[in-house]
Amino acid sequence: MLSQLSQQLCPEGLPALSGNIYCVGRNYVEHAKELQNEVPSEPVIFLKAPSSLRLLAKGPLAFAEESFHHEVEIVLLIGKDLALGSSAGLDAIASISLGLDLTRRGVQDQLKKKSLPWTIAKSFAGAALLQPFRRLQSVPEAIDFSLAVNGETKQRGHTEQMIFSFVKVLDYLLLHQPLYAGDIVYTGTPSGVGPLKKGDRLHIQSSALGIDAEGVL
Ligand code: ZN
Repeated sequence: MLSQLSQQLCPEGLPALSGNIYCVGRNYVEHAKELQNEVPSEPVIFLKAPSSLRLLAKGPLAFAEESFHHEVEIVLLIGKDLALGSSAGLDAIASISLGLDLTRRGVQDQLKKKSLPWTIAKSFAGAALLQPFRRLQSVPEAIDFSLAVNGETKQRGHTEQMIFSFVKVLDYLLLHQPLYAGDIVYTGTPSGVGPLKKGDRLHIQSSALGIDAEGVL
């Protein structure tokens, strides 16, 4: 199943998915504030299971009767193995795309109150929406991106608003474990998160990445 998804998400010339999906929480000041979270001094990291992956327009979706929160994010595909404790350069990134980190915010809020892990609020079938990666000539450092829901722009972000740059995030991950070719990293969402339900029309754009894609949840 992962190899099938891998073929759809990673065209020839890019590494196949390893199955690791790392996510950064609170990487944009305005988003941390809108959820009444502190602005972190080091990245907040959580995981999604690889079985959470779904193409923008199709695939399984758990809790389809619920309202989710949309979090549009820049998503990195790691291009080579990196040792524990090593330092990553931009050349460690094989490709960059956009994805949505779907969140069951009510469930997450309850778990946070009890100081329990948020895993089930972030990892479920369809929770990691992803636009397929493309082969890039070079890795752009300045990236704009946006999400519209049902024709209305909801989130706009730019890499210059990130608290932790791509390289800082990768170096932080590398303090904890090696990274493998085919690992995926969701790099955090800008402000403007809001409700999303099955059947809503999604439109993601990034001129720097050459992405202009539509889908339906
Ligand atoms: Zn997120």
